[in-house]
Amino acid sequence: MASAASPASFSLLPSTSSSSSSRRLSAPAAAAVVLRSPVRRLGFAGAAADSLLTAHVASKIREVVGRSGRGPRGVATMAKRSVGELTAADLKGKKVFVRADLNVPLDENQNITDDTRIRAAVPTIKHLLSNGAKVILSSHLGRPKGVTPKYSLSPLVPRLSELLGIKVQKADDCIGPEVEKLVASLPDGSVLLLENVRFHKEEEKNEPEFAKKLASLADLFVNDAFGTAHRAHASTEGVTKFLKPSVAGFLLQKELDYLDGAVSNPKRPFAAIVGGSKVSSKIGVIESLLEKVDILLLGGGMIFTFYKAQGLSVGSSLVENDKLDLATSLLKKAKSKGVSLLLPTDVVIADKFAADADSKVVPSSAIPDGWMGLDIGPDSIKTFSDALDATKTVIWNGPMGVFEFDKFAVGTEAIAKKLAELSGKGVTTIIGGGDSVAAVEKVGVADKMSHISTGGGASLELLEGKELPGVVALDEAVPVAA
Ligand code: AMP
Repeated sequence: MASAASPASFSLLPSTSSSSSSRRLSAPAAAAVVLRSPVRRLGFAGAAADSLLTAHVASKIREVVGRSGRGPRGVATMAKRSVGELTAADLKGKKVFVRADLNVPLDENQNITDDTRIRAAVPTIKHLLSNGAKVILSSHLGRPKGVTPKYSLSPLVPRLSELLGIKVQKADDCIGPEVEKLVASLPDGSVLLLENVRFHKEEEKNEPEFAKKLASLADLFVNDAFGTAHRAHASTEGVTKFLKPSVAGFLLQKELDYLDGAVSNPKRPFAAIVGGSKVSSKIGVIESLLEKVDILLLGGGMIFTFYKAQGLSVGSSLVENDKLDLATSLLKKAKSKGVSLLLPTDVVIADKFAADADSKVVPSSAIPDGWMGLDIGPDSIKTFSDALDATKTVIWNGPMGVFEFDKFAVGTEAIAKKLAELSGKGVTTIIGGGDSVAAVEKVGVADKMSHISTGGGASLELLEGKELPGVVALDEAVPVAA
């Protein structure tokens, strides 16, 4: 208890009294921390002071979660046949329809500004090429309404050719006689890039006739487009009805291994960090993770809904007033599951939502009227970091603050750096898509993480425990004989 009882540990308790003695744990309160079931005691306790107190005894987590008896639960539910199982015997001379996610950002001059998605697609394509297959590569780009030149895949050809070390051909459409002619003349070990599959509205409607036309170009199917796997589109789901085998590409497989496998069957203690703007957009993720994690750290704009639900004033911070009951029920659920749910104990507040706003650090319980919380404070960073020190698996989704403004990026960047440090110590670190990916990239630690998801919506849905149609439709993994 020594660390928990030190004055420094309690200096930011949300006490309404400022006297130093009132900030210290009274003997009975201190005893309560020891006497009750340790993991449950560290779980969020409902009342504001109590809940925030839990953050300050995070060091206890190290002692207790290890012996909490929470064993591994579940197994990967989406074990699918992988492209890695296909050898030259399966692939030589075969036409393989590969759905990739090449939806890269382009500037006004059609230059690729971030080629991550192209690079991520390369291992699968190279495996197919080295085994003598003819790769028919399909992707969407942007959200075109019909044929829209600025969403053509043509600007991708040079970079794709460079990365693959061969000259990639490109078709002007994704179906039709011209495409069929190009396919017919493809030599083994070559790539034909089809035009943006969303130039046809039938793609997103998953129309069987369109899927059949796409499938008719090939002998078998590889889905490597994790970013669109949560959508049942013709090129992700529809084609599987006509092509056998239909298998997972290496990228898709890796996403499933981490976001489904490592999360369902984690090395423990397992922590999740969830941030972002609104609790409403993360309800599914929080609820699902509460079933799996030992520790849940919350940050970002959503924390103010939790504070308000506990009767704290939040000034002009972002609050979803219709989600106060939900916040309360999530806190109760965490408690009943024995999950240590930690809210930030201090916040960086601003006098306006702007990069050059005046700012100061206050305890979470002392946000004045007219000020808004835009980042987690230094005490919270320390508490969160201490809690993370105890973990063996961490998944992160959503920034801790308005990290687009440098002044309010400190919490998010500190978490990114902490995860990089933990990765170096053998902790499995998973960045679950969206803005947290941008944050680790901004800090320059992306390559340190165990896994960075390439799919925002798809990774969220997977973390919510949903099945992804583009994955479900693939062939089941063949069990290895014992
Ligand atoms: P999401 O897409 O839900 O993960 O939310 C990401 C967005 O949340 C980012 O654009 C952040 O600027 C925003 N955000 C994070 N913290 C706050 C906050 N305290 N107040 C308002 N917006 C926030």
